Amino acid sequence: MNGSFNGQKVVISGASRGIGRAIARSFLKQGATVIGVYAGNEVAAEKMRLECQDVGDRLRLSRCDISDPAQVAELFQAIEEEFSSIDVLVNNAGIRRDKLMALMDIEDWQQVINVNLTGTFLMAKHAVLLMLKQKYGRIINITSPAASLGFQGQTNYSASKAGQMGLTRSLAKETARKKITVNCVAPGFIDTDFLDGLDENQVVEYKKMVPMRRFGRAEEVAAAVLFLASADAAYITGSLLNVNGGL
Ligand code: NAP
Repeated sequence: MNGSFNGQKVVISGASRGIGRAIARSFLKQGATVIGVYAGNEVAAEKMRLECQDVGDRLRLSRCDISDPAQVAELFQAIEEEFSSIDVLVNNAGIRRDKLMALMDIEDWQQVINVNLTGTFLMAKHAVLLMLKQKYGRIINITSPAASLGFQGQTNYSASKAGQMGLTRSLAKETARKKITVNCVAPGFIDTDFLDGLDENQVVEYKKMVPMRRFGRAEEVAAAVLFLASADAAYITGSLLNVNGGL
C-alpha cells in the first residue's frame, strides 16, 4: 500500500462483486475508507467482508438499492452524519436484461434504466451536495462500449449507458469550478459474473472482436478508476476512458 488515498472517503455502488469489488479492494489498499453498497446478494457481500477483515473498519458494506430514492437518501444521510463528506463516488452498479427490442417487456426496459441511469443520477445528486460544501470531489461513472457501439439485444442497456455519458458531460460542466471532476470509464468485456449466460460460442466470438484477443480483468478497470480519482487527474473532466483491449 502506498497510501495515496489515505483518509479519503470513497462511495462505490456494486462493491461486493466483479469490477466494483476490485475497485473497492484497490482503494482499500491505498488507504481509503470505502462505503460500498450492493443489491441483495448476501453471500457475496459476506465473502467480501471476510476477505477484507485486515482493513478493520475501513470497509463498510451495506445493502442499498440505488434505484430507490428513499434508500439512497437514507444512505447519504448516514454518510453525512458519520463522515461529513466524501471525496470519491464510483457509480459502478449495473444490470442487463438482454432481449431483442421487439420482444422486450416494459419491465425489462424500466428495470435497466432505473438501476443504471436513475441510480447514477440519485447517487451523484447526493454526492455532489456533499462535495460542493468541501469544494472537492471525484465522480466516476462506469459505462460501456454498448453506449456508442450498440449491441444486438441491448437497446435498454445501451440507452442507459449512453444516458450516463450525457449525464457525465453535463454534470462535469456544472461542477468544474468547484473542483469536482466527473468522468466515465468504459470497460470492454471483463471477466465477471456479468458475462454469465454467454455460451461457449459467444465467448469465442466476443474474444475475436477484441484486438488483444482476451477479456479484461476487473483489476485493469480499477487501475483506470483510481487514476481518474487521483490528484494527478485534476484537469480531466467530462471525459471517457476506455479499458477494452482495443475494441
Ligand atoms: P456484476 O459482477 O454483475 O456485479 C454487479 C454489482 O452491482 C453487484 O455488487 C450487485 O449487487 C450490484 N448491484 C446490482 N444492482 C444493484 C442495485 N439496484 N443497487 C445496488 N447495487 C446493485 O457486474 P460487473 O461485471 O462488475 O459490472 C459492473 C459495471 O461495469 C456495470 O455497470 C456494468 O454495466 C459495467 N460493465 C461491465 C462489463 C463486463 O464485461 N463485466 C463490460 C462493460 C461494462 P448484488 O451482488 O447484491 O446483486
